[in-house]
Amino acid sequence: MQVGNPVLREVAGEVDERWLKTKEADRLIEEMVATMRAAPGVGLAAPQIGLSLQLVVLEDRDSTISDLDEDFLAEVGRRTVPLTVLMNPTIEVFGKPDVELFEGCLSVHGFSGVTPRHHRARVHALNHLGEEITLDWTGWPARILQHECDHLLGNLYIDRMDTRTFSTNENLMATLEDE
Ligand code: ZN
Repeated sequence: MQVGNPVLREVAGEVDERWLKTKEADRLIEEMVATMRAAPGVGLAAPQIGLSLQLVVLEDRDSTISDLDEDFLAEVGRRTVPLTVLMNPTIEVFGKPDVELFEGCLSVHGFSGVTPRHHRARVHALNHLGEEITLDWTGWPARILQHECDHLLGNLYIDRMDTRTFSTNENLMATLEDE
């Protein structure tokens, strides 16, 4: 779903734990993982495939990261995130949202903007087995958590970004190459 579709602006409904045990749940999670990997992206929330459900998948693979410049990775605090499924997450953030980096979204295809985020975020959720998990992450992985949890409340990064930095990815790449 692309920005403008009302499902992206809804507060997503809670997932029923019993639903997790169904084949439908397995299929949906598989579809979300496949969509995220094909994009490619580092996270996907159910509203992005048109389902107003508090369900998120995350992953930042070694194979993607190894193509990127090491200094850049260190600068943005990006590192491998194993495939993680979150249901009914609640998020807690620490300090001020003073980490300003370009961020994009599969639902605002082809664009990026500088978006302030908190350095550290802690999420309580259920995983794909219905077990309670806590993630306490910093840097880029914490940014992914904030971005995906925002989706479940009907928020997009464009609501938080510095609007004057909004750019097509092509123009952003051209600017970065000139530097
Ligand atoms: Zn997004």
